[in-house]
Amino acid sequence: MNDEVVVEIEDAVVSYREDVALRGVSLRVRRGEFVGIIGPNGAGKTTLLTLINGLGKLLQGRVRVLGYPLSRDNARWIRTRVGYVAQVQNIDPRMPINVREVVMIGRYGRLGLLRRPSKADWAIVERMIELVGMSHLADRPIGHLSGGEQQRVAIARALAQEPDIFLLDEPTANLDWRAQREILELVKRIHTTRELTTLFVTHDLNTLPRACDRVVLMKDGLIRGEGRPEEVLREDVLSELYDTPIRIIEHDGRRVVLS
Ligand code: ATP
Repeated sequence: MNDEVVVEIEDAVVSYREDVALRGVSLRVRRGEFVGIIGPNGAGKTTLLTLINGLGKLLQGRVRVLGYPLSRDNARWIRTRVGYVAQVQNIDPRMPINVREVVMIGRYGRLGLLRRPSKADWAIVERMIELVGMSHLADRPIGHLSGGEQQRVAIARALAQEPDIFLLDEPTANLDWRAQREILELVKRIHTTRELTTLFVTHDLNTLPRACDRVVLMKDGLIRGEGRPEEVLREDVLSELYDTPIRIIEHDGRRVVLS
């Protein structure tokens, strides 16, 4: 981690018609940090990621990503530098597109839609498929994969962009225990080996990666607190954040959250 600030959000207000999703949020993230963002449903976590991804509309405040303000001209460039993985989607099994082609979609931000991918682009795609352990399924239609495999492909697509910033929005939701663990391990490995800045959103505290340097607490469109995991993953703090009694037990050197 170094001192370069790659995400700088000041007093951001975002609303969707009558709903105010962010009510004045400020956040700075340094290059190389792994930041967890937690909070109940509707807290504004996804909206915050949307701002960093160059897609949000500010009513008030300032956003700079990789040093550039979020203007219409910059937003497209910012999106090429920010990889985004959401929760697993239902994909129609008849969808006529295979793993390799899905991962290539990650290259189009840099390529432009009208240019044909070069050999070098395909080589990057193959490398990313290998990195996520999906080479044996590269020709398989995307709709014929398990949830865990689909998330590996989504991660490979995001990495094919060669991003600086990696945004993950509940990437383990709807996966079974083993797939959850595998995806968390993959995310951690990729964060370290590819020297990314990673923001990981979840409302499920047990899927918060142990690799987090810092955890940000969100509720009702505001940041309610932040700190190192051991400072904020406490029963009193979490019970207040989630408006329900929460217990934490230590097991095998790790904190398990019970509600
Ligand atoms: P969750 O954990 O449920 O995904 P979240 O913390 O990510 O929640 P957001 O999805 O950012 O929260 O939503 C914040 C608020 O903005 C909510 O009240 C939600 O209903 C509203 N909202 C989000 N997206 C839209 C949209 N596209 N149109 C209208 N309202 C929206």
